[in-house]
Amino acid sequence: MPSNFDRALSRHLLQEGGAELLPEESLNDAAVVACAECFENEGLRLDAAAIGREHPSVCPRCGTEGGAKLTRRLLAGLAQSFFVKGSLHRTEFGAAPLIMFNDKRSTDMETCPGWPSGDAALFEEILKIGFFWYGPPLWQVGINENLEKLEQEDEREQVIARILQAYSLEILTEADKFYRLRKVSGDAYALGKFDSTDWGQYDSPPPPAAAEEAGRLDSPNLPVLYGSPDIQTCLHECRVTVEDALFIATLRPVRELKLLNLVDFADEAFSHPCEDLDHAMVMLFLAQSHAYPISRAIACAARDAGYDGLVYPSFFSMLRNGVQPFESSFGLSNRSIPELRPMEAAKMIPNLAIFGRPIHEGTLTVTCINRVILRKATYSIHFGPAGL
Ligand SMILES: [Zn+2]
Repeated sequence: MPSNFDRALSRHLLQEGGAELLPEESLNDAAVVACAECFENEGLRLDAAAIGREHPSVCPRCGTEGGAKLTRRLLAGLAQSFFVKGSLHRTEFGAAPLIMFNDKRSTDMETCPGWPSGDAALFEEILKIGFFWYGPPLWQVGINENLEKLEQEDEREQVIARILQAYSLEILTEADKFYRLRKVSGDAYALGKFDSTDWGQYDSPPPPAAAEEAGRLDSPNLPVLYGSPDIQTCLHECRVTVEDALFIATLRPVRELKLLNLVDFADEAFSHPCEDLDHAMVMLFLAQSHAYPISRAIACAARDAGYDGLVYPSFFSMLRNGVQPFESSFGLSNRSIPELRPMEAAKMIPNLAIFGRPIHEGTLTVTCINRVILRKATYSIHFGPAGL
């Protein structure tokens, strides 16, 4: 008998376009349906080898003895990983897979160049599924009425006023600490131009000459000190390379700091993901530099409202946690389902932005400065089809 978890997972995957899972727990000759060597596509072969389980049996499909064997459950997982997650397409403010599959349709991908039709046939035959172009819900590709208003300068102000009302206050106290990384590139460090023990080096950077050169939240009239309680996120945010000299300051507030917490869920009545503030804010902070004029306007408004800074979702949250953005169940956003909100909240890495020049102004103190050495960098990857 399948467990309650298996039944729930199976139902969930069916709704998401996946195949029904069979209750197969033990790996024996009868449960093996394919192996890593069955695939022609190198990415599929490597992913199959990674998720397959070593078993001495002979593959019923290609005759390979031993190696990474796949059951129906693992094969369905491979289809989800390679074709669905592997075809994730980022839009201006959202992301959705280009390909989906289910057991209700036959494959309709003939117009796709580079489609691994031989390998796809293996999935179709064993799992009785078909692959097709996915038509995602509009919210998933970033259609949201608040985002549309935020993009219009004359309508931006009224949405920002709602944001200031709907998001909660977070107090940072003297007991809290976080990190600020400094990357020194080129010959500034080698020539001794950079004093790594100078506290001022870890304060907000000098204002940019032009507004377009500013970052996600700072602007010529609003310097911002960016930091994070998570050192890995600091490294991602600074786009470090092995050629850089790296230093990290541990910072603590000298007094209580009032921050507007944009990582939390907005306090507003439930509404559709195309209409709510929550999806607008997540999509805004996971978007690239075209979103900066909006996030800078939010920062200025928060400063004017008396906040000392912001807690905001890191652009690198998904990469840091190895998770997918904007996941859905039954076509609904998981962020809109109360039971799934803790899982969605855990995907987000909170960054800190403190307004002004807080080290110079004495609102933050440097408790320690260290050099950071990159010992080893590894990437966790999986594959998807090319040519989409
Ligand atoms: Zn095989």
